[in-house]
Amino acid sequence: MRTRRIGSALSVGVLLVSALAAGGTTAVADRAPAKEPVAVGYGGAVVSDTAESTEAGLAVLRKGGTATDAAVAVAATLGVTDPYVAGLGGGGYFVHYDARTHRVSTIDGRETTPRAGSETMFVDPVTGEPYPFPVAVTSGLGVGVPGMLATWERALQRWGRFDLADNLEPAIEVADEGFTVDATLREQTRQNEKRFRQFGSTRELFLPGGELPVVGSTMRNPDLADTYREIARHGTGALYGGSVGRDVVDAVRTPPVAPDATIDPLPGLMTLPDLKRYHTIDRRPAHARYRGYDVYGMAPSSSGGITVGESLNVLERFELSEMDPVQALHHYLEATRLAFADRGRYLGDPAYVDVPQRQLLSDRFARQRACEIDPAAAATSPVPPGDPFGPGTCTAPGAATPDANQGAHTNHFVVSDRWGNVVSYTNTIEQLGGSGIVVPGRGFLLNNELTDFNFAPTQGDAPDPNLAAPGKRPRSSMSPTIVLEHGKPFLAVGSPGGASIITTVVQILLNRVDLGMTLPEAIAAPRASQRNGSTTQVEPSFLELPVVAGLEALGHEFAVNTTSPLDPDIRTSGDIGAASGLEFLGRGEVLAAGEPERRGGSAAGVVYPSQ
Ligand code: GLU
Repeated sequence: MRTRRIGSALSVGVLLVSALAAGGTTAVADRAPAKEPVAVGYGGAVVSDTAESTEAGLAVLRKGGTATDAAVAVAATLGVTDPYVAGLGGGGYFVHYDARTHRVSTIDGRETTPRAGSETMFVDPVTGEPYPFPVAVTSGLGVGVPGMLATWERALQRWGRFDLADNLEPAIEVADEGFTVDATLREQTRQNEKRFRQFGSTRELFLPGGELPVVGSTMRNPDLADTYREIARHGTGALYGGSVGRDVVDAVRTPPVAPDATIDPLPGLMTLPDLKRYHTIDRRPAHARYRGYDVYGMAPSSSGGITVGESLNVLERFELSEMDPVQALHHYLEATRLAFADRGRYLGDPAYVDVPQRQLLSDRFARQRACEIDPAAAATSPVPPGDPFGPGTCTAPGAATPDANQGAHTNHFVVSDRWGNVVSYTNTIEQLGGSGIVVPGRGFLLNNELTDFNFAPTQGDAPDPNLAAPGKRPRSSMSPTIVLEHGKPFLAVGSPGGASIITTVVQILLNRVDLGMTLPEAIAAPRASQRNGSTTQVEPSFLELPVVAGLEALGHEFAVNTTSPLDPDIRTSGDIGAASGLEFLGRGEVLAAGEPERRGGSAAGVVYPSQ
């Protein structure tokens, strides 16, 4: 199965080196490399959201950098060219396969809660009610202590050949010279326009001349170039205690509202000691076996690895490849429905919550959960969580849990190198545009990651594992995944999309492993996301599939979500996620695949298109 070849109809994405190599400012717009969603070749590969970030990674690979060196270059460049879902102001999870040791390792670079935070920090002291979500998002209060830069540093310590300064060079060049605004960036700015206008620093950077950026124009970010240069000179301490950090703290505690702002954002709690205290965590990956493959993902503080793993464990009890398409999809939806009930009850930051990780990923628990699936009918959500300490027989303990939160943002990218090392990295500033606050003079947006906490308990009489606490990491759904076959890489995959990240990763794996699709087909296929909600979120294109009538006959109800979580007046595409992946075809050949359409398409590239 793993060496299934890809037809010649797929284009080979060779991104133009010259686009970044040549100097000058005005010509960059004319030379912007085209994006190709699929590339096949050798010597290393990159799939990321923008042409410039993919090219930055390929340039580092060509220079002899490792997948980790290239990943830092990609992430830093995304901070310039994909600024609403990436950059210094956020955090993420780095999953790495080491070709020498054949081991998968992970780095938890999730944001943390300031020391002054508490379980009730998102409760309005005046009303005693939780703050409305949009109020908490566009505020200093929702900003977590950023983990991105510390992740880059830790990853380079472990697996880099070059130093941080070298790997920041391509991003500095793009920030100085500028990149071409495309329709995706303009649309994302439109969705954020109202709140970006509230902050002088944000308006100045992302609403040039007070207007939406024009498609085809060149956007530069000299402040970010200078910030990267300062970090290159002085190290990550510039943020974690130094002058960049001081500016971050000022922006969080006193959000830089414009004189004509119509909101009065909640101030945040972060201090310089919070930044000095920040550290990443090396974690053992979450692991599940699925049909002979070893699936490695991110353990808590992300719920991704366990919830993907549990869903797959449940599905492994059924022969999906022999089922008709309606039954196969029915089982997929039911498995994630159950896994999300368990996610809500048991998963949170393991430094604060006892997470029964081994039990949740056990075959015994999968047996218990699998017998909840009725082949003849969809369950009614919310379904209750299972008991991971139970006997492994059919039981239905506990109270129901509500639907999981959903977002639509973040970015995921993948990199491999000539030695066979692989990186799968999902990183984010949470909502599209994060908190909406650009740190004045620094050129990057701050996250709103703390709004991933539950603002009030959700688990009835049981404790809620995802309430804020000092130093705690909010539960994430990010699911950067690496799949091995006999100890060697088979796939690397991941996606943005809030809680739907988990279902997107499961669906892509099923499409590829069980349903006979190629990786590009598995990524492009219409998506459905069941997260223990009364309806299943689907993309508009899913509703056109012939399986829909059969699924509805089983009781599934589908809903397309085209509303921004921040403003009901703002319409979105209804897409779920924006995935990227690699498949290792043998003898050093790599298939790099991303989105053909969603979020403006991915940029896939390889070092050598042929051997
Ligand atoms: N903050 C979300 C998480 O960690 C990701 C944001 C999104 O993709 O919408 O799961």
